[in-house]
Amino acid sequence: NEPLLSIHDLQVHFHTEDGTVEALDGVSMDVGRDEVLGVIGESGCGKSVTALSTMGLLQSPPAEIVGGTIEYEGRNLLDLSRKEMDQIRGNEIAMIYQDPMTSLNPVLTVGSQLTEPLLTHTDQSEAEARERAVEMLDACGLADPARLMEQYPSELSGGMRQRIVIAMALVTEPQLLIADEPTTALDVTIQAQIMDLLRDLQDRFEMSVLFISHDLGVVSDIADRVAVMYAGTVAEHCSVADLFDNPLHPYSRALAESIPSLDTTTERLPTIEGVVPDLHEPPSGCRFSSRCPQYIGEVCDAHDPELTPCGENHEVSCHLYTDVSEATPPWPVSDP
Ligand code: SF4
Ligand code: MG
Repeated sequence: NEPLLSIHDLQVHFHTEDGTVEALDGVSMDVGRDEVLGVIGESGCGKSVTALSTMGLLQSPPAEIVGGTIEYEGRNLLDLSRKEMDQIRGNEIAMIYQDPMTSLNPVLTVGSQLTEPLLTHTDQSEAEARERAVEMLDACGLADPARLMEQYPSELSGGMRQRIVIAMALVTEPQLLIADEPTTALDVTIQAQIMDLLRDLQDRFEMSVLFISHDLGVVSDIADRVAVMYAGTVAEHCSVADLFDNPLHPYSRALAESIPSLDTTTERLPTIEGVVPDLHEPPSGCRFSSRCPQYIGEVCDAHDPELTPCGENHEVSCHLYTDVSEATPPWPVSDP
């Protein structure tokens, strides 16, 4: 069963005045059909860069994709022309952002914004597109959709705007939805409602979702599997159950252990002593080594750990679980 989306060894650099930032250093993850993959990590770890690369929306320059593949239904999106990518984006792959105003145009009515993707990507007539848009607004829990079609974003609340953005993203029935912190900018009660809506829509349309968040509570609430990101790398890629019951990477362990309950109001990931490395000059070995409570010595500084299978559907990048080289003794595989 091939995954719908498969990101392999993605490497992204940003060229800045202060030099090159190695923003993604070999990121791999996949999303199956009708599956929700949660991408979790602190801000700046590369979650959004991964999402934008997939959408073909990285600003280049300053960004440059220097390696890797992003396969969608067996095609490498990085090989497609701008025109082919425009066709896929908004039709087969859609994205929603933290701030709904990123996606909404303040001077256009809700109706014209909702019908636009249908008129661009399908051969529906204006009337059909409007009918479909009204249906989607209704599916997104918005009352009086016909009236809403004539309104402007500024006349609506933040929660309503995010529902409209979701309706807009899903109006063409994409197979993959990328949601980048879709509830972070909303107040707590609205957050919970939007999460309920996303779960309901995922279920109804059987779509795949790449769900990005810095909030483990939110991710565990919707995702089947997770990719835990740290400083431009994937530390661990496993089921949500394994993340809580059998976390292998020291960073994931710290995350999983410190979550008191599935409290969706948790604002931030737990603090782990130390700071994220400067990605202008990333450490040569493991990017977590300066903060790692299970640091095992030179090998961690000398070798960049690769994402390695470790049990069924479970991958981890940490030398606790790999034999590094002939020159170093075999490292004990710790008993989780
Ligand atoms: Fe810690 Fe070493 Fe594993 Fe990195 S490779 S997470 S420093 S034990
Ligand atoms: Mg982000």
